[in-house]
Amino acid sequence: MRQPSARVDALRQQLADKSLDAIVISSGSNRRWLTGFTGSAGSVVLGTSTAHLISDSRYYEQVERQAPDFELVRAGYQTNQTLNTLLTALGARRVGFEAEHLSVAQLEGLRKALPDIDWQATDGLVTRLRAIKDADEIAIIRRAVRLADQAMEHAYAIARPGMTELELAWQLEVFLRERGAESLAFDTIVAAGENGALPHHHPSDRPIAAGEPIVIDMGARVDGYCSDLTRTFSIGPATDPDYAAVWQIVSAANRAAEAGLRAGLTGPEGDALARDPITEAGYGDHFGHSLGHGVGLDVHELPRLSQLAGDAPLEPGMVVTVEPGIYLPGRFGVRIEDMVLIGPDGAEVLSGVAREPSLVPSAV
Ligand code: ZN
Ligand code: ZN
Repeated sequence: MRQPSARVDALRQQLADKSLDAIVISSGSNRRWLTGFTGSAGSVVLGTSTAHLISDSRYYEQVERQAPDFELVRAGYQTNQTLNTLLTALGARRVGFEAEHLSVAQLEGLRKALPDIDWQATDGLVTRLRAIKDADEIAIIRRAVRLADQAMEHAYAIARPGMTELELAWQLEVFLRERGAESLAFDTIVAAGENGALPHHHPSDRPIAAGEPIVIDMGARVDGYCSDLTRTFSIGPATDPDYAAVWQIVSAANRAAEAGLRAGLTGPEGDALARDPITEAGYGDHFGHSLGHGVGLDVHELPRLSQLAGDAPLEPGMVVTVEPGIYLPGRFGVRIEDMVLIGPDGAEVLSGVAREPSLVPSAV
């Protein structure tokens, strides 16, 4: 891992820009990114020259081991009282909190317990920093991507007519876990036939038939970092006469986006790279979601490749998915998703597993 201090420095710059004396970070992924601490509870208090991590007795040893750059504050279960004591000792008055993570009730609790603090809502300070990955993060992400690639190859090898969606999903989960994934990045999607037209279908006990398109969307979590991969294929020649053409349109749109993505484009411009050819092919109304999203400690994080994203430009070091899809209700869906690394002049496609519309019968 990069030394936390580089990340701490970046966040301190944000404090300076916003004239904050300190910020309290309590969301899990942001806390982990900033400190290295992987536990499920704790509040980071980052000041302009101080770094504390308040946690409870379950985590004292873990904090000291994983977050040596942060001074452990032993809170017991009196988190707000401990926070009050600490901020008072630091002389902090203007203190930021994470507006996108704190509930209204939690904020009211803070205001009540710490009446002298001038609480300032901040939005996305850490998540925007997290969007740009450093070399260590990219190395971990490559491992998570490779594992998903291998699992998809396994799917190609074991998928048989008569298997249920759930059976195939379970085989993929076993494969990923046995090869070192600490967990799935998200619940695996295996969606056969008309189920493939539901982008977030949950696997069922429906058997997979020969010749029907199967959408598999899965990812591994490795050292905290996620991968996200989708392929669509049929076992043997597809029975739906439009499938092959639709698959080619989606695959070409995916390639067009991968060829065109680079630093400097906005989210809407990135989205258009795949949306325009799909619209020109007459399927614009059947591509209902955005083109992609950032991937890191969270499987969905900044930036967004979306018509609704703002005009913040893509930057080198961002890792995003490219996942165009066409969904024909009652018939089938096709989605092809890779992960790519944004560079100054283009994008490196990280996902490497082959894509084929139909597995040849000899391989079945
Ligand atoms: Zn996915
Ligand atoms: Zn995705």
